[in-house]
Amino acid sequence: MNLYALVRDVKDFPKEGILFKDITTLLQDGEGLSESIDQIAAHLENVEFDSVVGPEARGFIFGVPTAYKLKKGFIPVRKPGKLPYQCVSQTYDLEYGSSTIEMHIDAIQKGQKVVIVDDLLATGGTTKAMIDLIERMGGEVVKIVFLIELEFLKGRELLKGYEIESILKY
Ligand code: AMP
Repeated sequence: MNLYALVRDVKDFPKEGILFKDITTLLQDGEGLSESIDQIAAHLENVEFDSVVGPEARGFIFGVPTAYKLKKGFIPVRKPGKLPYQCVSQTYDLEYGSSTIEMHIDAIQKGQKVVIVDDLLATGGTTKAMIDLIERMGGEVVKIVFLIELEFLKGRELLKGYEIESILKY
């Protein structure tokens, strides 16, 4: 099935000059959603790991069903002030603006192997911040899977040394 056909391009969102990859059209399609999760999970089937880490909000959409399918736990990464317990945080630059992410201080144990799942790799800033948080807590990132990769933004260069897979490449 052609997943590319289910992703909608929205011009100048959220700012002029950004071509936004809108995945709501893919989510609305039962087969498209199922195929997306299956393809993400297929990249992780033979990987030894303990949990899936995913950032709000679109990282939850793809991260949780992937974790469920592989019978792993899910660790949410959120914007400041959303997680109720004590947090560790990291500030980073985005393709448009800057942001801070947080994770619970006890979400990851020393030596824990995790994978990161997110909807889209742009500059890699969000993923790099998640890696920094995970490693500060003693965790190990063994693989990273994106539904979409904007190859022209060269996010992989920022994430050098990590194993990365993406399903749809632009
Ligand atoms: P980045 O940190 O630059 O890799 O991008 C972080 C997040 O911003 C991605 O996971 C997407 O959710 C979102 N994002 C960035 N650029 C785009 C884009 N062109 N279209 C859709 N989402 C984007």
